[in-house]
Amino acid sequence: MLDPTPARSPRNAMSIDVEDYFQVSAMAPYIRRADWDACECRVERNVNRILQLLADTQVHATFFTLGWIAERYPQLVKNIVAQGHELASHGYGHERASDLDRDALRQDLTRAKALLEDLGGVEVIGYRAPSFSIGKNNLWAFDVLAETGHRYSSSVYPIAHDHYGMPDSPRFAYEVRPGLLEIPVTTVRMGSRNLPSSGGGYFRLLPYPVSRWLMRCVNTVDREPAIFYFHPWEIDVDQPRIVQADAKSRFRHYVNIGRNEARLQQLLRDFRWGRMDHIFLGPNGAPGAASPPPIVTA
Ligand SMILES: [Zn+2]
Repeated sequence: MLDPTPARSPRNAMSIDVEDYFQVSAMAPYIRRADWDACECRVERNVNRILQLLADTQVHATFFTLGWIAERYPQLVKNIVAQGHELASHGYGHERASDLDRDALRQDLTRAKALLEDLGGVEVIGYRAPSFSIGKNNLWAFDVLAETGHRYSSSVYPIAHDHYGMPDSPRFAYEVRPGLLEIPVTTVRMGSRNLPSSGGGYFRLLPYPVSRWLMRCVNTVDREPAIFYFHPWEIDVDQPRIVQADAKSRFRHYVNIGRNEARLQQLLRDFRWGRMDHIFLGPNGAPGAASPPPIVTA
């Protein structure tokens, strides 16, 4: 079947990892989990701001939401669903999948999925591991995802990075277990390396035209949808500063935060966007829509 809008790019997937600024893995050495409840939570106002940005640009997105956040902010979960976005799981307590054994991961996934489904009133089929923490040492995590009723994962970053990554894994969606897709966040192939081009700190670091060009390469050269991700705290210029963090973590966390909302607005307007499940699982929820039909240019 040909794309009905031949000159246009494939639809890309917009995703938000719903967590607060003090839950970021790089900050874990400086803020104890036991102190999370004492931190000023800013996630609800930031998610509401994102919902407004998406409404203004008529984009539907996927929200990979922490169970810990859902439990404390049930209205946030209901707002996401009510506005037509996909509710998906980021696990319960933002523990890296690579730090858990099978039973602990199963518990984390089951707890988050049940909580989100209960609050949202929708089935949750997608999961993104905190810090893209599925890699060559814990591929068994895919078995646990399939066993716990997930239909897709977006948990592998096919790059070399100091905290995560599996540079030799496929760059685009593939069936990793029967009935379970892995949908890696987007990279651009340059020579023999994969460069990250899917959001987070890289999007804030690079000038916007460079990020736009990288994503267009994926749409026009690879002819694949791109997967973009960001966090609610990445548009929050007034968040409390974690001054005790090391210089590298502070740089990664705060670089260009003041410019990010305007950039995201532009990004939402410059590309076609949709939810992960709609783009990759098709109308009946069956795998098979992973590769879009070829683009035909007149
Ligand atoms: Zn996260």
